[in-house]
Amino acid sequence: MSLAPGSENDVDKRIAKFFGAYSPSRDMKAVYHYVDEDGVRDAAGKLGNAGATPSGFVDYKSNPMAVYINRNTKLEGTVEHETLHLYGIKLLGFYGAGKDKVSHLFEGLTEYFTRKIVSGPRTSYAAEFSAAKQLAALTGDANLQTMFFQAKASVVLDCLTQPVYNKWRDFVNDRNWGDAEKCLKARKPCAGSKP
Ligand SMILES: [Zn+2]
Repeated sequence: MSLAPGSENDVDKRIAKFFGAYSPSRDMKAVYHYVDEDGVRDAAGKLGNAGATPSGFVDYKSNPMAVYINRNTKLEGTVEHETLHLYGIKLLGFYGAGKDKVSHLFEGLTEYFTRKIVSGPRTSYAAEFSAAKQLAALTGDANLQTMFFQAKASVVLDCLTQPVYNKWRDFVNDRNWGDAEKCLKARKPCAGSKP
């Protein structure tokens, strides 16, 4: 599979189709660079991007933001994943980050929505995905999409309460998957949750 410049435009259309009720448009503009795997690695090295994968990453610090995509990626869904980051970016501070400077919570949520629109198998961020899925089981997808696409942190805070959210978020970002799971396990599905 080889990706051509402009692939992100089709992805935006598909995101609008799947999540249209929640994401009227992507207002976070970005410049996409379709490069080979070495190009992704070089850019990540130069930019000090801890969240980079061989498939791609978003450079959040440049203005406008830049997205590096491995145009020869073997993994389906790379453009979808990186583009979904741009839709959810406004809550990056709310999602926090781990000691490794990666927001494992943001990765999990982004991967959760990626897998909704990509049919091929994906293995990226398996543990993060699983944590996001556990959250979705409590909030319901509709609430989770409202939070993510409309930058409404209150949706999840109303559901979990701030202290529980903070604890869970920190466990996820520090990749303490066992305690993260325990944190949510005792809780009942939230008001207004529906699949
Ligand atoms: Zn990511």
